[in-house]
Amino acid sequence: MLIERIDPSVVYEGPRATVATLSGSPIWGLGDGFAAFAQRHGYRVLGVHRPMTPYGLGPQVESYEAPGGARVLRIPSYGMVAGEDWSLRAAEWKVFWILWKAGVQVVLVGGTSGTCDWRDGEDAVQPGDLVLPWSYLSLDAVPSGLPGTELENVLAERVALMDDPFCPSIAGEITREVGALESARFRRVHGQDARVVLHRWQYGAGFESAGYSMFLREYGRSVGHPVITGDCVSPVLARVCGMHLGYYHFPSNWAEGLRPQNLTITLDALYLQTLPEVAATLELRLLARLATPTDCRCRELLRPRPAEYRRALSPPVEINADEIADRGTQRDGP
Ligand SMILES: [Zn+2]
Repeated sequence: MLIERIDPSVVYEGPRATVATLSGSPIWGLGDGFAAFAQRHGYRVLGVHRPMTPYGLGPQVESYEAPGGARVLRIPSYGMVAGEDWSLRAAEWKVFWILWKAGVQVVLVGGTSGTCDWRDGEDAVQPGDLVLPWSYLSLDAVPSGLPGTELENVLAERVALMDDPFCPSIAGEITREVGALESARFRRVHGQDARVVLHRWQYGAGFESAGYSMFLREYGRSVGHPVITGDCVSPVLARVCGMHLGYYHFPSNWAEGLRPQNLTITLDALYLQTLPEVAATLELRLLARLATPTDCRCRELLRPRPAEYRRALSPPVEINADEIADRGTQRDGP
């Protein structure tokens, strides 16, 4: 669905909460059964919504009450909507506009896909591991604002420093919760101290090509940090919206072209059988108890800037169609 125009007058009418999850591929195997799974873990479904956003109709927003009473939101699969092009910027704008208006401060995102580690042996990031990435890279610019709102472009007032893009405090909570999961058997958990770099996967572009994977493997080798490729929403947009982004990643395969494997056969078994209940259980336990972290720098890394920087820009103007027409008359007059 293409956006024809941005409508800044839209008012958010969905549910509110401080904690939300956007996770996708780790729980795809549940299909549309996440709510039923959550109910078996003591969650209560409060509602399922489809809020309008300034960029068009948004993705599904599910509202839950966790055991213990916490209100949490879930937007399925990073906000992807069946049949809509996820690579359009509006898809990510819709998700973050909803989270921002809903008052969300903690966003949990789980992703999967390939590892580009150049190493062999125990320390290498391999399929079957769990990774809490330390930093990220993207080969094209990630969304950094919400057009049509006060967050459209805040660079002059507040610059998003991208140290600690994935909240270290939440990463620690994820690691703790994984350690308490009876059902999970990860070959190895790579915490943020392992300094793994996430390559933000280009949504909708298919899996990476062998050429792409080799580039990321050699980049990793040259800087001494293994690279994984994976689904993740924009860390910059999360920071600009004042949110703590908790990201975990299951490497599900070697990135295309790096090792002998048959991705067309093996991946569906992993996604349908191995991962979904483990990942959903992990998420539900976390969502029930995550609070807004106070022992991280996520907020201070959205650094205020001197007022001069804003004044250095062309001033904003409100122009309506009549004024534009008047100006045309003046310019063209005698
Ligand atoms: Zn944080």
